[in-house]
Amino acid sequence: TTRSGMPLRVERVTRRFGGVVALKDVSLDVPAGGRHAVIGPNGAGKSTLFRVVSGEYPPSEGRVILDGQSIGGMPPNRVAALGFARSFQTSSLFTRDTVLENVVLAVLAHLPGRRDLWNPIRTQTAALAQAEAALARMDLLGKAHEIAANLSHGEMRQLELAMVLAQDPRLLMLDEPLAGLSAHERDHVQQLILNLPRELTTVLIEHDLAFCLEFADHVTVLSNGELLATGTPAEIRANPEVQRVYVGS
Ligand code: ADP
Ligand code: MG
Repeated sequence: TTRSGMPLRVERVTRRFGGVVALKDVSLDVPAGGRHAVIGPNGAGKSTLFRVVSGEYPPSEGRVILDGQSIGGMPPNRVAALGFARSFQTSSLFTRDTVLENVVLAVLAHLPGRRDLWNPIRTQTAALAQAEAALARMDLLGKAHEIAANLSHGEMRQLELAMVLAQDPRLLMLDEPLAGLSAHERDHVQQLILNLPRELTTVLIEHDLAFCLEFADHVTVLSNGELLATGTPAEIRANPEVQRVYVGS
């Protein structure tokens, strides 16, 4: 495969569910190292976009190009093998295993191409180092040997983030990573996301406008499945249409 400087390109994607048009003619480009936020009210089509990019929902029209390669018709595990890491659709924690074991398993399970089958010790040592680095970044190294079931709700979210981060994704896509957290937990997880490596190409899907504007260098606003606005945080902040959609939210 040829790697382009554009890890993610969404080209005029429409996705219908029966009579419902969840996404209508949506395009976006995320350059390498870009931090892109997708915002919009409930039902705007954000999660549908996430699922289209992860290969879970084939587009009704248009194309998704990951690393220069169209993912049309690819099953989600092949899309993941291209270096896409997802988060928070389903909790994938092994609650009876330790925090560190969960992250090591995530590394080994999701990077089949990088596994050195002829040298399992080297593979495991590398996975361990990657897991520990991700835990440190998610402020969870102190709980590495804790059983996952004993973590607080916020710590479980930190663990889920560490698990996707440890996979060293070419594209990290997070769908509402703050959802369901208490105010205190939100502040912490928000800070950890703001501190993600700058070189990581990230798409943050969020309801929280202020967080998106702080995190991203480029923002796409969806409303009723349509692209309402796209631009820098400053442009989005000044956009009267966006202000209208966000009044009272
Ligand atoms: P958001 O994540 O922005 O809240 P969604 O992408 O979940 O929005 O939903 C956008 C629209 O698509 C909604 O009207 C929703 O009911 C519809 N939708 C999403 N997924 C499905 C599905 N699997 N089947 C039918 N309708 C769906
Ligand atoms: Mg959603």
